[in-house]
Amino acid sequence: MLVLRARGPTPDAAGAAVSAMPSPSHDLRIDVADLVDRPGDSRAIEAQLPVPEGFTFPLVEVDAPLRLDAVIESLVDGMLVRGTVHAGLTLRCARCLRPLAEGAEAEVTELFLDPDRASQDQLVDLEEGYEVVEEHLDLDALLRDALSGQTPYRPLCDEACEGLCPTCGVDLNISACTCPQDDGDPRWSPLEQLREQLPPEPGEG
Ligand SMILES: [Zn+2]
Ligand SMILES: [Zn+2]
Repeated sequence: MLVLRARGPTPDAAGAAVSAMPSPSHDLRIDVADLVDRPGDSRAIEAQLPVPEGFTFPLVEVDAPLRLDAVIESLVDGMLVRGTVHAGLTLRCARCLRPLAEGAEAEVTELFLDPDRASQDQLVDLEEGYEVVEEHLDLDALLRDALSGQTPYRPLCDEACEGLCPTCGVDLNISACTCPQDDGDPRWSPLEQLREQLPPEPGEG
């Protein structure tokens, strides 16, 4: 079993926070040179990180920056990252498109294998993006995996949301309209176009 050092504001941790700060470019790499070849050593990091490039969903925007609060532990065969990813999300209701803010937290425990030290068997099962490369961990895959479990596929402002009228676009939560039902040409409606990208709601269709 692994023994983790208690995480706390040690001088090490303060140094780590600085070294983990991303450059202005889209850098999700964390320098772990100080932990390579030092099994048993660990270091706490608190890093603000950009959102992985191209990481978007139809109705969910992930707000930058992300925060990673974790301990990186050096093992014989790689580095273990254990902690929490904190993110702010801006969701749009799938029916009325109203924006909703939400916070997400994902627990992560991920092993980054060191190709120079891991066994062949381990490397066969290596998950893409989870390896130590040139004494750095690239957190792109970790952040994507952590957040994709936290982003609702069909956000709703309320289970009872009435949505928008497909014909005139009025928010039916706010006021009714006089449009005849089923009389709209759905092709022009941005809401309908968006709907086509989404799975049907239970009981719909
Ligand atoms: Zn709604
Ligand atoms: Zn209408």
